[in-house]
Amino acid sequence: ELEVALKVVIVGDGGVGKSSMIQRYCRGTFTRDYKKTIGVDFLERQIEIDGEEVRLMLWDTAGQEEFDAITKAYYRGAHACVLAFSTTDRDSFLALHSWKLKVENECGEIPTIIVQNKIDLMDQCVVGPDEAELVARALGCRLMRASVKEDVNVGAVFRALAARCLSD
Ligand code: GDP
Ligand code: MG
Repeated sequence: ELEVALKVVIVGDGGVGKSSMIQRYCRGTFTRDYKKTIGVDFLERQIEIDGEEVRLMLWDTAGQEEFDAITKAYYRGAHACVLAFSTTDRDSFLALHSWKLKVENECGEIPTIIVQNKIDLMDQCVVGPDEAELVARALGCRLMRASVKEDVNVGAVFRALAARCLSD
């Protein structure tokens, strides 16, 4: 039986929780100071969608996003994308559009979900619920809200992306 392998790229400004999300989903852990020490480009996790085995390879950026230096190799062959921003970082929200364009330039149109992370910090929220929905609609993406810290909706994001890829 053929196993489906999906490369998923996680993009967004530094500090929004991308590495934490990957670590949470693939290793089940969360730390305040996650530094990329794993020495590989991605972590993976296997799941089942409608009886099909799917291997998700989640690619991390190793902090290169700070220098706008993400290489083509990072995007190459990606099947799906998480566009992440933080509830407490308005600039990361405003940057969604340019991240979407970068992914599109390298990968074309691939299934993409916008993730508003850190909803455990709603008391420090700097992005209105309606404007988040509006931007998601304008970019043609589904919006999901998550807390990597509290493990809210992280699994749901990747299941939704995988399901989208399988149904395409
Ligand atoms: P990256 O630069 O996008 O890879 O972000 P990191 O994964 O390194 O996370 C940046 C900081 O945000 C770290 O201190 C994380 O522990 C923290 N963080 C990540 N996700 C959450 C979350 O859902 N809630 C809170 N409160 N902090 C988070
Ligand atoms: Mg990181």
